[in-house]
Amino acid sequence: MRKIGITTTIPVEVIYASDCIPVDLNNIFITSSNPENMILEAERDGFPRTTCSWIKGIYTACLKENIKEVVAVMEGDCSNTHALSEIFISKSVKIIPFSFPFNKDYDTLKKNIESLIKYFKTSWEKVYQLKEKLDNIRRKLQIIDELTYIDCKVTGVENHFFLVNASDFKGDYNKFDKEVDLFIKKAKKRKSIKKKIRLGLIGVPPIITDLYSEVEKLDVHIVFNEVQRQFAMLNFCNDIVEQYLNYTYPYSVFERVKDINKEIKKRKIDGIIHYVQSFCFRSIEDTIFKKELHVPVITIEGDRPQKLDERTKIRLESFIDMLKMRKIKNEKNYISA
Ligand code: SF4
Repeated sequence: MRKIGITTTIPVEVIYASDCIPVDLNNIFITSSNPENMILEAERDGFPRTTCSWIKGIYTACLKENIKEVVAVMEGDCSNTHALSEIFISKSVKIIPFSFPFNKDYDTLKKNIESLIKYFKTSWEKVYQLKEKLDNIRRKLQIIDELTYIDCKVTGVENHFFLVNASDFKGDYNKFDKEVDLFIKKAKKRKSIKKKIRLGLIGVPPIITDLYSEVEKLDVHIVFNEVQRQFAMLNFCNDIVEQYLNYTYPYSVFERVKDINKEIKKRKIDGIIHYVQSFCFRSIEDTIFKKELHVPVITIEGDRPQKLDERTKIRLESFIDMLKMRKIKNEKNYISA
């Protein structure tokens, strides 16, 4: 079976409908035994130090996995994709362009999905059959999400792991489905996590290796992984074009703000960690989040797959202390009112 590289979430139903295997190159990079080495390999091949580490990791992952075709999202994902695609072409990797139209035009997106369907020689009918299968797994991912923020039996990192893998369903959706079933069964038997502070994590998936464990040591439960939840497509609808229009990540930042504020309320979130990746254009959007989100926001930056540095740890501790004091004050005001 042909392996198809993907660099972000795309209509993966099309790839499965054509009996190919989707491979999310981000996941290959970050779960490899030595991701730092993959970055160094890209730098040895000429990638500048001042390029996002995810891009360098994706590049090396593609070559190492010997992937010959990559779906590259030219609009709606990453400002580096164009240049990365050119490098891939120079290495004889075929690029299949795909775009999420910035204006969220239904017909344009439908046409773009149709181009993918043509390239992969499949049909809308088969794509919808696959959508039904993947939606069944997505419904189980929704249970994991609810076990995180309602029952509090799933940790932030576990939530991250299952939702982020919905970009390619780990290349074998039947196997992933079984893994999800097993996890839900085990998680339901656990006792609830009792922590003082509920946090949300927004932004691209963090490259810092111990972010969740370090934050959760501070009496914190991470109950929301914004982008990972978007990858999992938990806003169910019957029309696949609508499904990929409801996906907030590739479109305007204001769609994301609306979604995050809704989840802050629903999940009773006390504060937000905005993770930004060094050299990523999306860091510019930080000012909008700080202004528009309904709870305090701390921005932290990561560069390479390393542990949390001491300075960021201290900033996070101060932020969480502030949230604890704020919560006590709000509770006192509520009682005396
Ligand atoms: S973190 Fe930013 S620059 Fe890096 S791959 Fe993702 S979108 Fe692109």
